Amino acid sequence: MNFLYLLVVLLPIAFGVGWWASRRAVAQRSGVQVSELSSDYFRGLNYLLNEEQDKAIEVFLRLAEYNHDTVETHLALGNLFRRRGEVDRAIRVHQHLVSRSGLSDAMKTIALLELGEDYVRAGLLDRAESLFSDLVAMKAHAPSALRHLIAIYQHERDWHKAIEHARRLEAMTGEDQAPTIAQFYCELADRSRQHGARAEAREYLQRAFACQPACVRAFMLTGQLEAEDGHHAASVDAYEAAIEADSAFLPGILPPLLASYARSHQMDRAEKFLRSLLDRYHGVSPVLALTRLYRQRDGERAAIDFLTAQLRQRPSVRGLMALIDATMDKVEGEAHENFLILRDLTTKLLEGQAMYRCSRCGFGAKAHHWQCPSCKSWSTIRPIHGVASE
Ligand SMILES: [Zn+2]
Repeated sequence: MNFLYLLVVLLPIAFGVGWWASRRAVAQRSGVQVSELSSDYFRGLNYLLNEEQDKAIEVFLRLAEYNHDTVETHLALGNLFRRRGEVDRAIRVHQHLVSRSGLSDAMKTIALLELGEDYVRAGLLDRAESLFSDLVAMKAHAPSALRHLIAIYQHERDWHKAIEHARRLEAMTGEDQAPTIAQFYCELADRSRQHGARAEAREYLQRAFACQPACVRAFMLTGQLEAEDGHHAASVDAYEAAIEADSAFLPGILPPLLASYARSHQMDRAEKFLRSLLDRYHGVSPVLALTRLYRQRDGERAAIDFLTAQLRQRPSVRGLMALIDATMDKVEGEAHENFLILRDLTTKLLEGQAMYRCSRCGFGAKAHHWQCPSCKSWSTIRPIHGVASE
């Protein structure tokens, strides 16, 4: 480790420890304990800096024993325990802190916030919820407590409470929560749709649009509702609007959109819309959809010509696979065998490929999720663009 860096980091701490230790020394018998304490403190810090958490814990435990009023040491210890997954010990440290008399309000609320995080980590969500709610009521660390509460309600899929608390957070901090709240309304709409409460689903979608007029997911759910109700032309309108709102989600929107075009007998409209996408969207999905459309309408030759011309401009393994499929049946004998091998190889190339990635944390997924399973952000999982993917 860079020595100069260590010096810069540790000098102010050394000054602080020295001051605190000397103040303690006056109150106590001698200076012996002082040097022992500060050297312990340095050793603990060193272990922490070197990520030797076991040794750091040992030293900080000793410090906490010596010196019952260093709240910071206890907080550091509790944090360490939680980070190492020793949640029970973290809870004990923080509970001990909270129950201590003479603790300042500021320190007590910090300890409560930490204890709440311990509870979340331990899966004791009811306890965490009531603790964070208390902190919000006390107006202590309210934004942090609200964020934790929103995370808990999302986990419990209690979308009404998640909405209520997101609105409070927005009012308190001025941070725009509208896109997230729109997602919560979409969750409610989808749940109502699945339970057959269609009017209720539409009402929730209206609220989602009120939060975020260009909410892709709300357009998609509208398209799905319309299609299920047999309103295929209206479904096409909604799905097209979803792609206009954010074409990044196109791979998931295209299959139901194509079905609605077919059911509403609007294949000319389908061709026009897909062709307009070729200029502004660089993935392979519209190319594959148009290839299928041309095969049905104009025959195999027209489809292969179109696909070949497009693949020269945007090389794609999925496009290649479509080309192999289209060409394979036209040849016989050894050439046919070779095509089978090629097909097998391209299938292997695509197998196990993550097709989606979270733009915030990098989490890779084969299927689309509206909420990232890893970092819990909304609408951040998007199709990967590249030769072997979209
Ligand atoms: Zn993520």
